[in-house]
Amino acid sequence: MGDIANQMALSLILKIKDKIIARKQKGIKTMKILVINAGSSSLKYQLINMDNHEVLAKGLCERIGIDGSNLQHTNVARDEKTKIEKPMKDHGDAIAMVIDALVDEKIGVIKSMDEIGAVGHRVVHGAEEFADSCMVTDAVMKALEKCTPLAPLHNPPNIIGIEACKKIMPNTPMVGVFDTAFHQSMPAKAFMYALPYECYEKDRIRKYGFHGTSHKYVSQKAAEVLGKKPEDLKIITCHLGNGSSISAVDGGKCVDTSMGFTPLDGVPMGTRTGSMDPAVVTYLINKGMSSKEVDSLMNKQSGVQGVSGVSSDFRDLTAAANDGNDRARLALDMFTYQVKKYIGSYAAAMGGVDAVVFTAGVGENDAATRAAIVDGLEFMGVKIDDSKNRTRGTVDISADEAAVKTLVIPTNEELMIAIDTQRLVEG
Ligand code: ADP
Repeated sequence: MGDIANQMALSLILKIKDKIIARKQKGIKTMKILVINAGSSSLKYQLINMDNHEVLAKGLCERIGIDGSNLQHTNVARDEKTKIEKPMKDHGDAIAMVIDALVDEKIGVIKSMDEIGAVGHRVVHGAEEFADSCMVTDAVMKALEKCTPLAPLHNPPNIIGIEACKKIMPNTPMVGVFDTAFHQSMPAKAFMYALPYECYEKDRIRKYGFHGTSHKYVSQKAAEVLGKKPEDLKIITCHLGNGSSISAVDGGKCVDTSMGFTPLDGVPMGTRTGSMDPAVVTYLINKGMSSKEVDSLMNKQSGVQGVSGVSSDFRDLTAAANDGNDRARLALDMFTYQVKKYIGSYAAAMGGVDAVVFTAGVGENDAATRAAIVDGLEFMGVKIDDSKNRTRGTVDISADEAAVKTLVIPTNEELMIAIDTQRLVEG
């Protein structure tokens, strides 16, 4: 960054320091962080008390800029849900409504906007520009624009969300937290594709990886559960949901991950293919499909939904497979086989593994799928206990004799965003 950018960043940090001092003088001791995840027509939020990591309020603005805009707000302590229907022409209106709800006498959880110490924004793609979360400055906003061509559907609403928030809360520190940042520690041998080197230099084509905030959270939590330092552990984290990715985390740093240039790569997902021979794409195009049609085929009509013809939802698939539907069984078998192969290959890549972690919708809830994935991995020390595997929550499901721990850890991307935000604001 240039001198002007540095000066701007410095002046922002001084403003933030002033704000922290002012908050202390007003007697506001607790750091409350607002986490924002802005999509193209939606905006999710959580207000988290950082003293005890308790969620005070959460909600969702839907249909922003479309007829029927509404805010669904939950006051968590009182378990009270409120739906407010009101036109929201843009993300600025949505954020203003969120703040109104948070400070509202009846449904709110804080007295004034000043109680919000900082805002953490989820940003999908940080490319090579961002290897960590960072304070949002004007220079950062410019760098974010540079990442947009790599995530044309996701980054623009994230940026609009930050801009809208900055307008309404100009003196509140903002932090950007990127889905890709945790994977920036991968070595070149893991992130490069064997295309001509110019494709990387000119077009930035390489593996980036996604779900980084989740992989970071569960790998740190796994170290905590095991009573060890992340630096002393080799962990394989399996984020298995509608979208799925697996990461190899060595010494607290990601060294490989299954998603690639886009979230299409890796294991088969709800409706996405996962890895396959890229020549299938040219074959289909040569047969007359447009690139748009192939893109939709691979992203929206494939995966376990495409193979089974039943559903992208693992609960429906399991029910159908148990009823004798062969294609549903095949889809499940393809999924568990590929996840198993990633676990084996990442253990080889790291020269061993201390723990395998399951998280996200399928990873946290689907005991049968977890059992099928680790079945046959006894040779490398992975073995689970069937009754422990049926337990819920954060749990060690390893068999007593297993050399490698298998853990189930519910992911919490919002909390990870808030923790990073606090680290940057207070650090
Ligand atoms: P996303 O990638 O959209 O964040 P989630 O992490 O919420 O997805 O995971 C959604 C998936 O989790 C769905 O396929 C759903 O079937 C699966 N899932 C949720 N609960 C269960 C359950 N109790 N048993 C099996 N699968 C479940």
